[in-house]
Amino acid sequence: MGFFEDAGKKISTTLNTTSSKAKDYTEKRKLETSIRSIEDSKKSYFTKIGEITYRANNAGEEMPDISDILDIIRDLDREIEEKKEQIQALNDRIVCPSCGKMMPKEAKFCPYCGAVPEEIQKAPNEETANAETKEGSAASDGAASSDPAKMKLCPSCGHTTDVANLFCPNCGEKISE
Ligand SMILES: [Zn+2]
Ligand SMILES: [Zn+2]
Repeated sequence: MGFFEDAGKKISTTLNTTSSKAKDYTEKRKLETSIRSIEDSKKSYFTKIGEITYRANNAGEEMPDISDILDIIRDLDREIEEKKEQIQALNDRIVCPSCGKMMPKEAKFCPYCGAVPEEIQKAPNEETANAETKEGSAASDGAASSDPAKMKLCPSCGHTTDVANLFCPNCGEKISE
């Protein structure tokens, strides 16, 4: 007689799968949209320069000072550059196939669940047991949190990693504390 009750329970468990990949995608789209609108206003400033030049020339006058407009365009260029860097930062992360969290592209193991990312499973193992390069790889976590208070050492391979990580991104060892 408990059939209907069971059916109701099952539905609610499958709805909780919002992935951070979707969030990243939206973030990227937002950045791309604002780059496009900055480029549009850049174009309108260039048009303005063309118009000013044309009118002055037509009237046989000296070219007026356009350095203000050039400064604005330079500012817009800087903004575009910043946004492109933000997009690049988003591209440098991958989604863990196991837990769905975002992790640095170069991590060999998911820092949250210890799973091996798919891309690495497929790729040939170039630098597997490179025990000698402990120090060289110590700061390659992608997260780049240089605050030593927020870092901890992997007890297995000595890799320095963020305290938030539950698994070593270098060797997959579970890190407690
Ligand atoms: Zn994971
Ligand atoms: Zn390790």
